[in-house]
Amino acid sequence: MQNSVIAYPRIGALRELKFAIEKYFKKESSKDELFAVAKGLRKTHWLAQKEAGIDFISCNDFSFYDNVLDTAATFNVVASRYKALNLDPLDEYFAMARGYQGEKGDTTALAMKKWFNTNYHYLVPECDNAELISLNSSKILSEYEEARALGIEPKVVITGIFTFFKLINFADENTKNKAKERLLTAYEALFDELNKKGVKWVQLDEPYLVYDLKATDLALFKDFYTALLAKKANLKVLVQSYFGDVRDIYDTLCSLNFDALGLDFIEGKESLKLIKRGYPTDKLLFAGLVNGKNIYKNNYEKTLNLLSEIQNFANNVVLNTSCSLLHSPYTIKNEQRLEVRYLEHFAFAEEKLQELKELKEIASSSNYKENSLYKANVALFKKPTDKDNKAVKERIAGLKDSDFVRLPKFKEREQIQKKALNLPLLPTTTIGSFPQTPDVRSNRLAFKQAKISSTQYTKFNQGKIKECIKLQEEIGLDVLVHGEFERNDMVEYFGESLEGFLFTQNGWVQSYGTRCVKPPVVWGDVARFKPITVAWSEFAQKQSDKIVKGMLTGPVTILNWSFPREDISLKESTMQIALAIRDEVLDLEKAGIKIVQIDEAALREKLPLRKSDWHSEYLSWAIPAFNLVHSGVRADTQIHTHMCYSEFNDIIKEIDAMDADVISFEASRSNLKLLDALKEANFQTEVGPGVYDIHSPRVPSVSELESTMSKILAKLPKEQIWINPDCGLKTRGYKEVIESLKNMVEATKTVREGL
Ligand code: GLN
Ligand code: ZN
Repeated sequence: MQNSVIAYPRIGALRELKFAIEKYFKKESSKDELFAVAKGLRKTHWLAQKEAGIDFISCNDFSFYDNVLDTAATFNVVASRYKALNLDPLDEYFAMARGYQGEKGDTTALAMKKWFNTNYHYLVPECDNAELISLNSSKILSEYEEARALGIEPKVVITGIFTFFKLINFADENTKNKAKERLLTAYEALFDELNKKGVKWVQLDEPYLVYDLKATDLALFKDFYTALLAKKANLKVLVQSYFGDVRDIYDTLCSLNFDALGLDFIEGKESLKLIKRGYPTDKLLFAGLVNGKNIYKNNYEKTLNLLSEIQNFANNVVLNTSCSLLHSPYTIKNEQRLEVRYLEHFAFAEEKLQELKELKEIASSSNYKENSLYKANVALFKKPTDKDNKAVKERIAGLKDSDFVRLPKFKEREQIQKKALNLPLLPTTTIGSFPQTPDVRSNRLAFKQAKISSTQYTKFNQGKIKECIKLQEEIGLDVLVHGEFERNDMVEYFGESLEGFLFTQNGWVQSYGTRCVKPPVVWGDVARFKPITVAWSEFAQKQSDKIVKGMLTGPVTILNWSFPREDISLKESTMQIALAIRDEVLDLEKAGIKIVQIDEAALREKLPLRKSDWHSEYLSWAIPAFNLVHSGVRADTQIHTHMCYSEFNDIIKEIDAMDADVISFEASRSNLKLLDALKEANFQTEVGPGVYDIHSPRVPSVSELESTMSKILAKLPKEQIWINPDCGLKTRGYKEVIESLKNMVEATKTVREGL
């Protein structure tokens, strides 16, 4: 038996790559220095896999920002607006990732979208000139050489042509048709070059296959691969799926001339059923059995039972990860604070390599139940834990239907609130956080490390809140925020104040580009043991006559951005969190807070990839969990929510059913397309479509903002619209924040006058 890793995290155990890239962005280091750090990390990551005895190690899984963007660069799928900047390749690449504003021009970044059902974001390639498409294999080939120099014969990984094509945003049908041909030619050229180089295996990542596919998709896939596989010569081709099963295209995959199929047996509910229909004897099966997304140890008993079932149908199985290990943190070795009784249940990327090694060894031994590694693993899963909280279980059991309904109904509340809050048309606000400057972070750190007292810590933050309120008043915003200086992260902060969560010190996972998140771990039953945000919000409100929003994170987002438990359902875990946040909402209201924003930035994240599962497996409890959080407030308390994306055309009804009073969302990178859909669906909730992109340091001009606002006004009634940036400002610098918000307020005033 052999084993394999789909892809390995590249950011580094201590986020070395993040810091190196950011240094380069700040012009504090040269290209060569950046390249040297990157090369060092690739080496470390390859050697870790080599030492663990991994048979199939990937190259080209490294990226300075995102693998889809890398694929776009490889095939020169670059929109003309970036070409026009005339930058060198690396800077053109970063211009697509982050936008560009400098001596060579001014243009926005590519749209960014969540990568399937993960919290990783990819950049959406834009193609307005298909003639440009051509192969540049230098990154691929040089990384291949690098791995070979370390004594590794790697498989070359690249986004598959079908998935890549499906993810590109084309200017028009013509371009799309043209691109289809040219892209195929370019992939064929890549196959040629890989052959010339003597590459043995290529892995084409085709996660798009786990969606519901149409007949036209099947035909497209078949066309692409019939042509491409005819060019494979000595190259062996693995088509790799993940995040689900490939039920719509399994037969086609079997019938094409692939050398191996990669199937996911963790999230692929029907993968086993599929291979039971028969698996081609001429193909290896890369079986995803080690979860690439979780942090918990693999249950060897379950895995080996499943493996032996798989082996009844496929004779040549390679033990694989279920997806790229990019979605798991790097290693538990840098965790000094967690007690062994917890840590012994964890396996991050590096430990997953060990699991692959052990599973390979155990599966190859004749009487594996006697194997000591196996026995140790079985014993671990039988150990008693401290997960249960009786009071929480009882409260969940006692919930009634009426606990999920807010009264009076929206229209009635809306009138009451318009009177009570007395805001102008197009109220301006922000999403919550203000820049997390070094002093803010070091104050928090000093407090955490007990270097300053809680009074000192609080005093400092109160000072920051005062400044922040004053700044917002000066800028002229209508609804203010306190700035979130006490928060490291919108989820971790709440987790820390709730029983049932555990925290890592270095469990970082890449979210987008150089941004990493450190998700908390839901370990046991969740309960709130004290008010969390009330004192900060109360203090902030006292500083101003304007309304200051209370700021909370919603239960679905807390769950989706944590590593979930695997011993109870997601639904049960989420309801426990919902009850805790509900108590916080009611405490804020009691403290005189008139608007409470409950962020559900990640609501969409765990939406099943197949539409047929959306309701039954997710929305049927995720929406009620949000309802449970705010159903207890008064009619004149306004509930806001915020989402970090604009793709909810397909769940508009459900979003409306969350029954918030106002929702803000990301819209600037996606051209406000959603507004049509909102209008069509007769969307009730008031909306604040983000009028500029905070993921880019670019400052939007007043006229640009005015034109965005007019576009919004053309689609929605003016009484329904709020004006805000598209997300929190914490990753930005004050200079650009102040300029951008001033422009936003100025544009709003002008637009308002015209109404
Ligand atoms: N209130 C949060 C903030 O402003 C929301 C962050 C988010 O949506 N990711 O930072
Ligand atoms: Zn957001």
